[in-house]
This record gives sequence, C-alpha cells and structure tokens, in this order.
Amino acid sequence: MRDNIIHGSNILWMMGVIFSILSGTVSAQPADNTLQVIDSRKLYLETVQKDSNQRMEDLRQRIPSLVFDLRYATKDNFVKQPLYPATRTSFLRLPAAKALAGVQAALKTQGLGLKIFDAYRPYGVTKKMWEIVHDSRYVADPAKGSGHNRGIAVDLTLIDLSTGKELPMPTGFDNFSDSAHQDFRDLPEESIRNRLLLKTVMEKYGFEPLKTEWWHFSLPQPGDFKVLDLPFDELDSQDTRNSQDTQNRRGTRDIRDNPKPQ
Ligand SMILES: [Zn+2]
Repeated sequence: MRDNIIHGSNILWMMGVIFSILSGTVSAQPADNTLQVIDSRKLYLETVQKDSNQRMEDLRQRIPSLVFDLRYATKDNFVKQPLYPATRTSFLRLPAAKALAGVQAALKTQGLGLKIFDAYRPYGVTKKMWEIVHDSRYVADPAKGSGHNRGIAVDLTLIDLSTGKELPMPTGFDNFSDSAHQDFRDLPEESIRNRLLLKTVMEKYGFEPLKTEWWHFSLPQPGDFKVLDLPFDELDSQDTRNSQDTQNRRGTRDIRDNPKPQ
C-alpha cells in the first residue's frame, strides 16, 4: 500500500516532467522525491496561512477529555531515555485532531476514551531514535520521514472512563513482537475484541491502521503534510509569538523523501 503511494507519486512526477518538456517549460523542481523539512516557525506559519489544515492543534485544548501518557517525554520507552522535553500535551494537524475528537466522542457513548502515547514527533526525535536503534523494522528511517513527523499519526489505546484503566490489549506500547500485529490471533478473546474496537472506530473517522503495531494510526495523506522539526513550544499560540530568534538560525532543508506513514 505504501509502496503504491510512492510509486504513484513517482509516476505523477514523471508525467509532470514529460508535460513540462513537451510544453517547453522545464520544471525547476527537484528531479527526485525530495523531503522538505520545515524547521522554521515562520515557514510553518506561512503554510498555515495558505491552508488552515496545516495548523498543528494542541490536543489537550482541542479534546480536554483525552488522557496522556507521552512515553517519549519520559524514560518509560523502548530506548529508555526521554526523547523530547516533558510536556503535558501533544499536537496533530487540524484534520487529524478533528478526526480524533470524533473518535473520542463516539467512544464516550460506550463509557470509553483514548489514552495517547505519542502524536506529533519532531523530525529531530526520529533522527535520534534512528541513531540509537538503526533498524527500520522498529523505527522510521529519517530519510523517509514519518506520519508522526507530519502530525497525522498517533499512538494510542482505549481506557475505561469509570476507572481510567487501559483496556486489555494484545501487548504493551512499542512491543515489537509479532503479537503486536493487527492480524495476530493467538490471544485472549478480550484483547482481540478491544483491538478490533479501537481499529474499527479509528477507521470510521478516517485513520488507517499499521499492520505491525495495533496502537499506531495515521491519516492516509502523507503527501499533503510536510515533515516538521519544531519543538512543541514553537507550535503554541501560532499567531502571536515573535520567532525572530529562531528564524535567524533556522530554515528549511531538503533531503531525499520516500513518504512512509509510520
Ligand atoms: Zn506510531
């Protein structure tokens, strides 16, 4: 599926080049898949101004009933060290935040809610993970960027609203064994039921599951959202902050792209 997306974009680009040559307007665009990383608040705000769907929404503000257990802000994760500073919230692009609000509202009618393990992940964090693990089975290859870097992927589980406890699932978060796969069946019936409930409600609101991680979901349009490398505090109150200091030392940079929502 992801390969199809990549090949599809290649074909579209080639068609564009052929059209450019035929029409005498050879494109100045890069002649390959180029990943543009936005690490300037100014450029981020420009994208938001052109398209409000690019806005990164503060999930705690947007969906106050969400529960957060942001593992990468603590040592309680697979690399055993905090990968970003302590934070009480995370962010997703506007369409993903809206979809997540729909999921949370639908679950509420069943006495259930969502607990968020991770959502937006600055690109620098993906690079740090790669330096530590360097295995694309477990972490996203930074050459490709990830759905988390684009603010359209979220790692989460279900909780019982009356107790605040997580519902039994096949594995814990970031378990990289086969038992975390969506199609793994050798499990207690209750875990299979809960996994299916989470997948069904996430799909209903437009998210796609990942085969190998029951907790990971992403909107299926990675090409619509550029990779971001901005710390969480630079995403706050988008219109008011003066970011001149960061504009002076930051910009965009290009590296090879191969979009993969992971
Ligand atoms: Zn994930």
